[in-house]
Amino acid sequence: MNYAIILAGGRGQRFGNANVPKQFVELTGVPMLVYSMETAQKNRNIDEICVVAADSEHRKICSWAEEYGITKLKYFATPGRERQQSVYAGLTAIPAESRDTVIIMTSVCPFVSQKTIDQQYEKIKTKDASITVVKATDAITFSNDGKNVNRTLQKKKLYIQQGPQIFRYGVLMAGHKAYIEDEYYKKLDVTEDSELVLNIGVECAMVMGDRFCIKVTYPEDLAMAESLLNLFEKQEREYAEGKNN
Ligand code: C5P
Repeated sequence: MNYAIILAGGRGQRFGNANVPKQFVELTGVPMLVYSMETAQKNRNIDEICVVAADSEHRKICSWAEEYGITKLKYFATPGRERQQSVYAGLTAIPAESRDTVIIMTSVCPFVSQKTIDQQYEKIKTKDASITVVKATDAITFSNDGKNVNRTLQKKKLYIQQGPQIFRYGVLMAGHKAYIEDEYYKKLDVTEDSELVLNIGVECAMVMGDRFCIKVTYPEDLAMAESLLNLFEKQEREYAEGKNN
């Protein structure tokens, strides 16, 4: 079985809308979470969906699933305080077995392409973990205190992580359990699943994503997302017709 876990448990504090977390804000009249649910629904590899969202939101999400024909939605999980705790909650909510796959999607990246997801399912045939990235175009500087530079990393070897990430269920579960049980490692601020599986010695592959697959974090990102929607839909149509495979 191939499960999708869609994370929708954040509070979206940087988005600045105290009443509606950003994953439920509308993008051209459709709640942002619905874009990710539709993407998972359309993908031929994904069998079942689990949404991680506050318990108070489940009924609303069910009504969207009905309205938008998301028949693969089968499970809900209650979010944790941090992103990785929400992933873990999703992992424990699905009846997966070790060799099943789990693809982690967020509800704040509305333009994940079918091509990227299909490429991740190709990758998981030979690897146990794979993430989506784009090449960094800006230099990235590391600063411990936010005031002075400790290191400026080599741009040509830097990649920016996007969603989705795909894993063998047993591997991701083992990564999370090791993190939960390791007192030293727990003190580090680890939010990415790729880091958790690397920690237990699992190789993690990369698939190149789309530059316009933006993450909606700040209010201005919503305007940017609205202007990219046509481009995304055109690309998806062409992929479905076999034009940009
Ligand atoms: O906080 P950030 O923007 O990185 O969140 C990425 C995704 O993870 C969002 O879809 C958010 O709803 C989700 N999330 C979650 N539980 C948390 C924090 C974030 O499900 N505790």
